[in-house]
Amino acid sequence: MIHSTICKVTQKAFRLRFVEVSLLNSAQSVYNTSMNIIPIFVPHEGCRTRCIFCNEYSATGVTGVPDEKEIVSTVEKYLSFFRHPEDVELAFYGGTFTGFGNQQKYLEVATEFFKAGQIKGIRFSTSPGLISERLVEYLKPYPVNFIELGVQSFDDTVLEKSNRDHNTSDVYKATHLLNSNGIKFGIHLMTGLPEDSESKDIHSTREAIRVGASSVRLHPLVILKGSLLENEYKLRRFSPLDLQESIEILWKMYLLLSTSNVKINRIGICLYGKQIDNVVAGPFHPAIGELVRDRLFLEIVRAFSGEMKRNELRLHNKFKPFFTGHKKGIVEEARKEGILIDFAHDGEEIDVSLYMRRIKERVLEGVYAEA
Ligand code: SF4
Repeated sequence: MIHSTICKVTQKAFRLRFVEVSLLNSAQSVYNTSMNIIPIFVPHEGCRTRCIFCNEYSATGVTGVPDEKEIVSTVEKYLSFFRHPEDVELAFYGGTFTGFGNQQKYLEVATEFFKAGQIKGIRFSTSPGLISERLVEYLKPYPVNFIELGVQSFDDTVLEKSNRDHNTSDVYKATHLLNSNGIKFGIHLMTGLPEDSESKDIHSTREAIRVGASSVRLHPLVILKGSLLENEYKLRRFSPLDLQESIEILWKMYLLLSTSNVKINRIGICLYGKQIDNVVAGPFHPAIGELVRDRLFLEIVRAFSGEMKRNELRLHNKFKPFFTGHKKGIVEEARKEGILIDFAHDGEEIDVSLYMRRIKERVLEGVYAEA
């Protein structure tokens, strides 16, 4: 599936901040990065359709499919630089793994590493339309720990317009099968797809939680070079959401997930080096995860200030990492609204969990969508 690359540095920074938040306020930790992932990219292999937003060659810079030798050398290279090589999973990303003719060879190579104790298991991304009882039986001899389902939306019109190879009924069947066989799974969701809307994205998030996803990746749609949408964009038949519009949807999805014990593995497409130049338009930002989190914390500031009936907030220093924001974004935005934030060793406490729950209720009531 698209956008599966791991951005370790950003994830690590993000995880640390949330671990601290959860210590402070018993809020849920939302980043699932305890496992080291060795990504093997198989761009577009096994895909039955070309989704309109996707070009894995542009996203990953990988142009071919590795043979067994290349997989072995990639794994050895990664194992040599992991600080905790005991917690490693081998992941096949960038295509539809269960539609892939060579999947057996790949599973066997990975299983050898598992038997040698070098990896803890295998994960891969695939389409919900290619999960069947037969497949689940077929996978049983292999150490598959986790499956990432490229769901993108729980709305059939959005899926059809996006040229996905599955519909929502396939998603429900696949997640039921995985749940009943005890196979953990994550879900990829996208915002800003054709015919998409904020209420559909909120619905998709609620459904991802309801069907039992352990983790979710949130991907605001960006137009990539070589994707089918690039042409539509150039012909002015499609415009992506901009960064601010995307953040206005994503913070609500983020809030619903993080208060439902669903880990958020990634927000935004992860691109390195030259691949960044393959973004033609749309809400690409290297720190979008932080901006989304900041937007939620700004909402907490507004709620707290409103409840206290005060525009001058003097918060305890321990809240500084959470209420300052990327490039002081929260403090600045609050200031523009007339709310002044300061920090001090004897500053006041905010019950972040409480405000998150209250804001969540408002999101579910559609208060923000109507605003
Ligand atoms: S299924 Fe669609 S999104 Fe996933 S890799 Fe194939 S074309 Fe890209």
